Amino acid sequence: MSWDFSTDPETEAELAWIRDFIDTKAIPLEALELPVREFDRAAAPLIDEVKARGLWAAHLGPEHGGTGRGQLRLALMNEIVGRSRVGPTLFGTAPPDSGNLELLAPHATPAQRTRYFLPLLEGSVRSSVAMTEPGAGADPTLLSTRLERHGNGWVLNGHKWFATNASLADFLLVLAVSDPDAHPKHRATVVIVDRDALGVDVRRDIPSMEDPEPRPAQIENHCEITFTDVALPADAVLGEPGRGFAMMQERLGPARVHHCMRWIGQAQRALDMLCERATYRYSHGSTLADKQTVQNWIADSAAEIAAARLLTLHAAWRIDTVGSKAAREDIALIKFYGAKVLHDVIDRAVQAHGSLGFSADLPLEAMYRRARAARIYDGPDEVHRQSAARLILRGFTPPADGIPAEHLPTRRQAAREQFAHLLSDRKVADDVIRSL
Ligand SMILES: Cc1cc2nc3c(=O)[nH]c(=O)nc-3n(C[C@H](O)[C@H](O)[C@H](O)COP(=O)(O)OP(=O)(O)OC[C@H]3O[C@@H](n4cnc5c(N)ncnc54)[C@H](O)[C@@H]3O)c2cc1C
Repeated sequence: MSWDFSTDPETEAELAWIRDFIDTKAIPLEALELPVREFDRAAAPLIDEVKARGLWAAHLGPEHGGTGRGQLRLALMNEIVGRSRVGPTLFGTAPPDSGNLELLAPHATPAQRTRYFLPLLEGSVRSSVAMTEPGAGADPTLLSTRLERHGNGWVLNGHKWFATNASLADFLLVLAVSDPDAHPKHRATVVIVDRDALGVDVRRDIPSMEDPEPRPAQIENHCEITFTDVALPADAVLGEPGRGFAMMQERLGPARVHHCMRWIGQAQRALDMLCERATYRYSHGSTLADKQTVQNWIADSAAEIAAARLLTLHAAWRIDTVGSKAAREDIALIKFYGAKVLHDVIDRAVQAHGSLGFSADLPLEAMYRRARAARIYDGPDEVHRQSAARLILRGFTPPADGIPAEHLPTRRQAAREQFAHLLSDRKVADDVIRSL
């Protein structure tokens, strides 16, 4: 029997260091809301500390130049790092760079590794991933961006949007249709495109619920891009042509676990604020801590966070032990369940703070706006529910005789036959069956 919820002392010490770093350095830096250049300057010495501690890019194994030791350990780390909006950047695990590194690591050629992977790993460049189009999101088989062979190379034409960090990125991983006649899942290819290549136009940082008036080229802006006759060399292709969908799925599996653990950290931070508020806010004769509704919010939030946390840690453990593909059901479950827990806990914390919660004097309102996106990106809730349900349903078949497996009269009859030798006295047997 091996079933152990404890954390080894070495990891515990590492997590304690990360907790202190996030509380004393990342959360204060986050409060400054610096523009990207000033942020990079302020972040540099903190990143050096993380690197010196051997915790940089922990989502990548040492074989790829990272310091990670598996998804489970990373999940525990991300829970703490994710408490702060800037935490992932300070630890080299911020999306979309983290997922792009995971995609480049196994697929980059030696030349791509030198030119793109290593600078991204080091943190000296930024990247973006451009998959979604105005006409194709949840269903990527509808993509229309085209990648056509031209001489020895390729030409890219299309229109993408919501590519996070594209206006800051040095290069983009673009998913485009290279073989429109192939099976829908084998049509697309991933290409690496320099952002300053001729024909690449990052048209705008899209105003959104996260930021209705985005400052240009700010971290975590989502961008609209057109590609017009972009000439690409043959070696712009990452991995094999036609394997783009499968590769993006590979990228998204572990990335969803990273997101979910960061959400646990965010949800716990919101619950901490809710509990603090309950202790001092006085209304109608008692503090909020004495109101049963607020007690319910606290207890429900704690239970939901614990459930989402265990589900996510289990998914991380499954990825480590059986791989992302076999862990698809676990990953789908945490993606929609974690997003709901995140949203609901922050919502309760906003409510408990009243007008202060609604104001921008607390981080809760920004957390709430960002939490809303979690139900959409990396696949909307409904698609993950559908995938999970389909995978679960694979374990079921219709009953051959059309009678449900649990149909009690049928089961009683079968039980009577099974236990006939014990129930030899006919009257006793009938009594037993009647009492079932
Ligand atoms: C904050 C944020 C960051 C993002 N970053 C990136 C990025 O870096 N790169 C990138 O390429 N994209 C990015 N996206 C885009 C994201 O991946 C898409 O929004 C997502 O895939 C959904 O696509 P869509 O928006 O086109 O919605 P649609 O495909 O139009 O779906 C709309 C809604 O339809 C419903 N729906 C769709 N399919 C089904 C189904 N099978 N069953 C039931 N209901 C269904 C769902 O309710 C869904 O929310 C980002 C999005 C957000 C919000």
